[in-house]
Amino acid sequence: MKKIIIDIDNTLWDFASAFSERIKNISPDFPPLQEWHTFDFWKAYISPKQFYSIIREIHMDQDLFSPYAQAKLFLSLLKEEGFYIIIASHREKGTFDVTARWLNQHSLMFDELHISHDKTILFNECRAIVDDSPITLGKAAKAGLIAVGLRMPWNEQGNYTLCDDLTEVFQYLKKQPF
Ligand SMILES: [Mg+2]
Repeated sequence: MKKIIIDIDNTLWDFASAFSERIKNISPDFPPLQEWHTFDFWKAYISPKQFYSIIREIHMDQDLFSPYAQAKLFLSLLKEEGFYIIIASHREKGTFDVTARWLNQHSLMFDELHISHDKTILFNECRAIVDDSPITLGKAAKAGLIAVGLRMPWNEQGNYTLCDDLTEVFQYLKKQPF
């Protein structure tokens, strides 16, 4: 079966802008997101406790945010192509229900929802991944998966494929041998 892992934050919606907005309240000097060139740049500005608590807050408030305009079509096109879609997000367990509700509310198609701190456990059963994390994409590529994501300031260096939008991601996936 053509199983594919699809990330949520910065893949199906603009998590970074929500994060940027909220972080300013506790760290006014926090750089604008165009300057987030590494995945752990935030460590110079806030503590891990602050970082993870803002992320959790945003995830619990998921209802307040909309997906990218192309997200719904992207997922239905993958379905049409015969993909089995595992939506996988690095989130705390307690966010499962709010996340599932958000996906359903916006008619974002999926077969499975995986919420955990480690997506790599899915790599064995999957052929491809769409994610924005350079760490996750790098590990996936190394494990032999087709690894592709939206181009972000923090993922520009790496051994994986980057696209400008989800339409381009779909076109790329369609051309791959599955
Ligand atoms: Mg992400």
